[in-house]
Amino acid sequence: MTSTPAPEAVTDPALIAAVEFARAAARDQAGAEVGAHVEVRAEDSASATHLFDADKPGYRGWRWAVTVASAGPDDTVTVSEVALLPGPDALVAPAWVPWQDRVRAGDLGVGDLLPTAPDDPRLVPGYAQSDDPAVEELAVEVGLGRIRVLSRFGRLDAADRWQLGEFGPNADMARGAPASCGTCGFYLPVAGSLGAAFGVCGNEIAPADGRAVHAAYGCGAHSEADVEQVSPVLVADLIYDDAQLDVESNELSAESVEQAVDALVQSEVAGEPSGQPESDPAE
Ligand code: SF4
Repeated sequence: MTSTPAPEAVTDPALIAAVEFARAAARDQAGAEVGAHVEVRAEDSASATHLFDADKPGYRGWRWAVTVASAGPDDTVTVSEVALLPGPDALVAPAWVPWQDRVRAGDLGVGDLLPTAPDDPRLVPGYAQSDDPAVEELAVEVGLGRIRVLSRFGRLDAADRWQLGEFGPNADMARGAPASCGTCGFYLPVAGSLGAAFGVCGNEIAPADGRAVHAAYGCGAHSEADVEQVSPVLVADLIYDDAQLDVESNELSAESVEQAVDALVQSEVAGEPSGQPESDPAE
């Protein structure tokens, strides 16, 4: 087994002393944006790097690095490389994160593709493909037609997420519900082992419509929710004592009817208005 040798200490004092030589090389590239000399670092026995503050707008904490080298103590010092490098306090971009680690729930938009890795621990092979067409046809019918299915890890991961999520048993909505999803007529249990605790809500009024809900979740749209019918008017306002009421008959006596007819006939004979509206002469 081979190992990378540690850089040897710079033994050529000419490389250490070549500060102004390195500064001139940096100025060749950066002009007046070269600041104070910060330090010199050994690269190996024949080269060293001089660092200068970069007086460059927008590059706070960056340094010009000039690597100088020589073939030996009596040889000429030459410039190998000039580069702008970040110092320990430099303002730099955040560390790069692979895109598959950056994507979060809700990031996937219409038309986006998000392939799963071949070794995704949430998935396992669905079944061993057969060369018998009859078996293949039956496999789809019984749900084996998929190449991969959720692994035990994937199912537990989903169960944890759903249980702790918006439609889990600890949601505020569940705490105020009259009963839980497990007893609701709109609850559609999912297939497989997850069906022991999860289903899909099929009530368009419910906030969880079309979502996976825990059997202990619940909402006010539960199929058996019983709403007590309460009068919008205070009952106290309707209470009365009928013993205190004067009850009058609305039936006319024969005598009063006779008197009313007499009065009407006499007024007609006298040409007085009978109390009916007069007709329009134009009619
Ligand atoms: S209507 Fe409410 S209680 Fe019924 S399944 Fe949907 S979320 Fe659960």
